[in-house]
Amino acid sequence: MLKEKYDVVVVGAGPAGSVAARFAAENGASVLILERDREPGIPVRCAEGVSHNGIEPFIKIDKRWIASQIDVAKLHAPNGEVANMYNNGTGYVLERRIFDTSLCELATEYGAELITKADALDLVWENNRITGVKFKHINEIKEVKCNIVIGADGVESRVGRWAGIDTSVALKDIDTCVQYTLSNIDVSKDTCEFYFGKEVSPGGYVWIFPKSDHTANVGIGVAGHLAHKKGPKEYLDEFVEENFPDAQVTYTVYGGVTTAATLKEIVKDNIMLVGDAARQVNPITGGGIVQGMIAASIAGKVAAEAVKKNKFNSKFLKKYRKIWDKKLGNTQKTMYKMKEKFMTTDDTRFNKIVEICQKIPEDEFSVKALFTEAVKGDPKLMLEVAKAFVASKMKLK
Ligand SMILES: Cc1cc2nc3c(=O)[nH]c(=O)nc-3n(C[C@H](O)[C@H](O)[C@H](O)COP(=O)(O)OP(=O)(O)OC[C@H]3O[C@@H](n4cnc5c(N)ncnc54)[C@H](O)[C@@H]3O)c2cc1C
Repeated sequence: MLKEKYDVVVVGAGPAGSVAARFAAENGASVLILERDREPGIPVRCAEGVSHNGIEPFIKIDKRWIASQIDVAKLHAPNGEVANMYNNGTGYVLERRIFDTSLCELATEYGAELITKADALDLVWENNRITGVKFKHINEIKEVKCNIVIGADGVESRVGRWAGIDTSVALKDIDTCVQYTLSNIDVSKDTCEFYFGKEVSPGGYVWIFPKSDHTANVGIGVAGHLAHKKGPKEYLDEFVEENFPDAQVTYTVYGGVTTAATLKEIVKDNIMLVGDAARQVNPITGGGIVQGMIAASIAGKVAAEAVKKNKFNSKFLKKYRKIWDKKLGNTQKTMYKMKEKFMTTDDTRFNKIVEICQKIPEDEFSVKALFTEAVKGDPKLMLEVAKAFVASKMKLK
């Protein structure tokens, strides 16, 4: 039964929204989650790759939402050479339908309430202050009051804009992505593959994330400003035709991934943004599940503290920003600079990086070694990368 007022209303039941709701509720706030779709996690718009270390702090690992365990990352240079990375920790390809629902169920176990088919339409304002959310539930327009709105409404977020936050991102900092789930293919269930080069995916990469030995999410991200001559679908179709001629497409995803730094403003009086809505995505890999959950856990705790102290202004809520920057936001900035460098990396340099990586002993070849190699020749950036690794141990996905 919908109450008239909650301490916190979370818009969106993706990973960021559910984790924010869980931490706010766990720390004493009354919380309502509004989710536009009929259940969390659908439609899936994701390659579903995460690291074990990234998700393990937030939810007990459950084989119900793991399609495959990843132990190897295979990097393909433009010239066809390959380097295998065995030393990057365990990863998973998820079943996000089940994963997102499980995260949301966890939030409800801590006391958060959920309404599905509840499409947030606008913020409610009184005397220039945000005091609630207006939403459409099935066919009825409703309003719910609250002290804090957490906008967790994904990459196309409108909540931030309604609050007057500039959520725009430069075209070059948005990857246009297309992905097919393919069946009738031969892949290795424990290996993720990445293809680089201007012929394959300019300013981005093609990924193969296996869900079994015969199915995989195969997708491409192309930097927005490079996608006008030839679109990502054309690149992906060519790739699939060449590498998996007998494949059948069982599911198609189109979507945008921001490859920017976190938004300048993620907090205002009575409002916080988390996850894709705040652009908390790794600018190099495009991974946002873990980053969003980390940010959301901070936001949820700060929101609950705000409730206890009855302080809902931006001055207090900025505590979330401060902790986020220290934990991962500053690292994201460094990663953004590295991405800028990668964008200008030509195929010859990619070939060279993979060649050098092939010579690194297997037990020493890690993401850190790869990045260090990639930024060689830029001492300032090298130093920043080293610092970022020390500070955060680089949560990549
Ligand atoms: C092709 C592709 C591949 C990707 N691959 C990976 C990957 O392998 N690994 C990884 O970590 N990340 C990946 N990402 C990014 C990842 O999907 C996102 O970073 C992640 O889902 C962000 O979580 P979120 O909770 O912020 O937003 P979302 O998961 O987008 O959740 C937002 C929720 O808000 C709801 N919502 C939106 N508007 C409203 C509204 N008005 N009212 C109510 N509810 C609303 C939506 O229905 C949705 O449930 C990929 C993205 C794409 C497009």
